[in-house]
Amino acid sequence: MDVRLLEATPNPEELICRGARNDYMSDFNPDLSFEETMASVEGDTLEEKKRTLIDHLMTHGHFGPFEHPSVTFAVKGVSRACMAQLTRHRHVSFDVQSMRYVSFNDVDPERVAEGEMVVTPPSATDPDWVGRNQKGGAVDEETVEKREEVFRQSVKRSVEDYQELLGLGMPPEDARFVLPIGSKVNIVMSMNVRMLMHVADMRAAADAQWEIREMTEQLLDLAAEWCPVTFDYYDEEMRNRKNRLAP
Ligand SMILES: Cc1cc2nc3c(=O)[nH]c(=O)nc-3n(C[C@H](O)[C@H](O)[C@H](O)COP(=O)(O)OP(=O)(O)OC[C@H]3O[C@@H](n4cnc5c(N)ncnc54)[C@H](O)[C@@H]3O)c2cc1C
Repeated sequence: MDVRLLEATPNPEELICRGARNDYMSDFNPDLSFEETMASVEGDTLEEKKRTLIDHLMTHGHFGPFEHPSVTFAVKGVSRACMAQLTRHRHVSFDVQSMRYVSFNDVDPERVAEGEMVVTPPSATDPDWVGRNQKGGAVDEETVEKREEVFRQSVKRSVEDYQELLGLGMPPEDARFVLPIGSKVNIVMSMNVRMLMHVADMRAAADAQWEIREMTEQLLDLAAEWCPVTFDYYDEEMRNRKNRLAP
């Protein structure tokens, strides 16, 4: 998968702080400089003041100000199974690559067997991989070789069938019904900082599936560059403690 930050609110933490200061100041107004807005917050520098205020908001569960800054990510090459999990989050806005308007008639089924177009889960190739919902533990080499063979044959076959149906004049929107749920999809999605932390609570957790967890960890890495004080606090104090953002 490929996960990138496409667009984001500039100076997100200044915006969070301005929102919060509005709540606590009798004379807040948007013409004040950021320095003036933060004047009574503890800290020697503006960076320290920002950290003081953001830590205070996070500690006290005052999450409203984190709804102001938004970020848009472009995610390429996750499975439609992962997409189904992700799109359950109702405060995220999505654009999802269409299987009605994008057809896969020129994909070589042999290459699909090798990993093009369909995500290959690690349990298909790694004998030591143990998934969350797997009965039993690691398996022997012979078993995983058989798994891989069945998996690769199955995805190749489904693309061959899809292309045959297209050849028989079936529209892509109907022929797609035979494609695997592991088919890769590209997504553009936007959310605010609070929602990103909520998605991380649920999807970077140990009980989330490996694919959405890997994607969410990449979102968190990008978020840490964009909004460092907030995601530093999140990482240190809140990560893996589910549902604090939406109790
Ligand atoms: C490990 C795991 C396993 C899962 N398994 C399944 C499964 O087997 N089947 C299945 O259907 N789903 C499953 N889900 C999806 C899960 O039930 C949620 O639908 C999904 O994670 C969206 O999160 P959310 O409920 O926090 O809502 P979001 O849409 O992310 O909304 C954020 C918060 O807003 C509030 N909110 C939003 N909409 C409403 C509303 N209409 N009413 C009240 N409050 C609202 C809630 O506080 C909510 O937590 C699973 C999720 C995880 C992480």
